Amino acid sequence: MTTPLTHWADGRRLDGASDRWADVTNPATGEVTGRVALADAADAAAVIASAARAAKAWGETSLAGRTQVLFTFREMLNSRKDELAHLITAEHGKVHSDALGEIARGQEVVEFACGMSHLLKGGHSDNASTGVDVHSKRAPLGVVGIISPFNFPAMVPMWFFPVAIAAGNAVVLKPSEKDPSASLWIAELWKEAGLPDGVFNVLQGDKVAVDALLESPEVAAISFVGSTPIAQYVYEQASRHGKRVQALGGAKNHMVVLPDADLDLAADAAVNAGYGSAGERCMAISVLVAVDPVADDLVARIAERTRTLLVGDGGAGRTSEEGTEADMGPLVTAAHRDRVAGFISSGEEAGAKLVVDGRDVQARGAGGGFWLGPTLFDHVTPDMEIYREEIFGPVLSVVRVASYDEAVALVNANDHGNGTAVFTNDGGAARRFENDVEVGMIGVNVPIPVPVAYYSFGGWKRSLFGDTHAHGTEGVHFFTRAKVVTTRWINPAARPEGGLELGFPRNV
Ligand code: NAD
Repeated sequence: MTTPLTHWADGRRLDGASDRWADVTNPATGEVTGRVALADAADAAAVIASAARAAKAWGETSLAGRTQVLFTFREMLNSRKDELAHLITAEHGKVHSDALGEIARGQEVVEFACGMSHLLKGGHSDNASTGVDVHSKRAPLGVVGIISPFNFPAMVPMWFFPVAIAAGNAVVLKPSEKDPSASLWIAELWKEAGLPDGVFNVLQGDKVAVDALLESPEVAAISFVGSTPIAQYVYEQASRHGKRVQALGGAKNHMVVLPDADLDLAADAAVNAGYGSAGERCMAISVLVAVDPVADDLVARIAERTRTLLVGDGGAGRTSEEGTEADMGPLVTAAHRDRVAGFISSGEEAGAKLVVDGRDVQARGAGGGFWLGPTLFDHVTPDMEIYREEIFGPVLSVVRVASYDEAVALVNANDHGNGTAVFTNDGGAARRFENDVEVGMIGVNVPIPVPVAYYSFGGWKRSLFGDTHAHGTEGVHFFTRAKVVTTRWINPAARPEGGLELGFPRNV
């Protein structure tokens, strides 16, 4: 028996009329566990209509009323996060503690949104011109669409929907068809938290659902996260249809290790950030740039650590019989595992030195799981396919360079600019790096510098299309639009007011 995973509109499940479905699998066993509906245009219209019906009343609900719902949602999410983590592990494959970590980072955005009334305040200028006052306000957009990738089925939607909802918008979430259950769990939680029906909706599907959102005149804005080619497509299509759009794309994140760095700290960081979540993170480190003369020593320390990692079923390991939790789980699908394994062959053929080969992995889990172990390449050069492409798997490439300048030039020559990190004990070098690199999020001795919720998340270059990053004040601006009101009230004591004057109004 497989569970049918359908849409959510008007505060309840909506089956839809489309006869297209996709299998959902448990990556640790290879078993099909569910079937997700793939919307047709009519299903999409029905879900968008639910949001459109709810948007006005929600936008007019008081800030106090909206905030209370957000606080309730936050409390329920916090107390029931284990349930959500199980769903994530069962469809994505990441280990349970990592699933809890993604929920915690999403919950931070909910907490930020609980205090968002402060950022929705406008300005007021008394007597800006004689007898004339000016004030500004921020209004919700109406219906907004969120299109999310497979790798963070809870956190990435939570970068957007708490802010959108706190700002008074109605949301249509189009999750990845690979791990759709989290979206429906979240929809039910919103309902229990008291969010009016229709304010949060889920549209399941693929390109057909995405295109319906991009083209619908009822959708005012699109927040997208996924691979670079689709991000660019979404940006262009949504813009063509007159929408506000932020489209976050792929990444190739470099970690630069300078000669004075603490090499044990750097090796730990490279392993954690390279192989955590099987490398399926947009902020994963995929390239380690070793500045002479650290490479030999650093590669040895990374290899030693890599060989100790346990690959296994991410849902196991929380009882004493099961032993400890695995360090990393399987890849999301068999096709993705095969693609990543193909990159390992490509690296070997191109002449990179394969120090640890993940294709030999002995995983603790079912034979049908989509297993691939952590893989380490040394002597990778920028012309190799494994350097040029986003692999999105547990493959770490070491590039050796002679100097700081060569390291920065390498980072800046890359098409992507999502995250980067420098490892050093030299404050001056770190400060120079921070100014020199053309990347949106930078870590100093921190390998995965995901900004806290009250700052904004986003990369540069082909890692983000559009100009507004996610959450923080930029998120609040994205989900609201400004009005400026100029007011004159007649003062009977100062008559006569008015009179004919056809020149452009000047402030006096
Ligand atoms: P993806 O681009 O394949 O899919 C993302 C979303 O787009 C999904 O909802 C999917 O259904 C939809 N989609 C897929 N093909 C489409 C098409 N042809 N037309 C319209 N919509 C389409 O990405 P993914 O494999 O789910 O996620 C991994 C990618 O996401 C990686 O490239 C990763 O770097 C990126 N990512 C980026 C960030 C960031 O913050 N920049 C965060 C997480 C993931």
